[in-house]
Amino acid sequence: MRDNNCIFCKIIAGEIPSKKLFEDDEILAFRDINPVAPVHFLIIPKEHIAVLDDIEERHTALLGKMLFIATKLAREMGIGESGYRQVINCRKSAGQIVFHLHMHIIGGRDMRLMG
Ligand code: 5GP
Ligand code: ZN
Repeated sequence: MRDNNCIFCKIIAGEIPSKKLFEDDEILAFRDINPVAPVHFLIIPKEHIAVLDDIEERHTALLGKMLFIATKLAREMGIGESGYRQVINCRKSAGQIVFHLHMHIIGGRDMRLMG
C-alpha cells in the first residue's frame, strides 16, 4: 500500500506538507509545488501505484473518480469554462519524475503553443 521512499506517500501521510484541495479515503488532490501555469494541481490515489502501466482492472473506478474530481476542482478553481489539460506521464521517457501515479491538471493560460 505504501512505499516508504515515496514522496507522495509521505504527503498522503502528512509527513510532508502540501496545499490540499480535496481528500477522501481513496484520493488526494493538492497544488503542484512547481506550477507551470496559474492553476496546476495533482490528483493521486492513496494506494501507491508507481506508474500508469501498473493499473489493473480493479482500479478502473478509482481512475474514473480521479477524472471526475479533476473536473469538479477545475470548475471550483475557475478554469472549467476557459479550459485545462490533464496529463499522466507514464515512465521516465514521458517525463515522469515522481513514481506514484498522479494526474496533472493545468490551466489558466493559453497552452496552444506548448505542444
Ligand atoms: P511528473 O514529472 O512525475 O509527472 O510530475 C511530478 C510533479 O510533482 C512535478 O510537477 C513536481 O513539481 C511535483 N512535485 C514534486 N515534489 C513535490 C512535492 O513535494 N510537493 C508538491 N506539491 N509537488 C511536488
Ligand atoms: Zn507512493
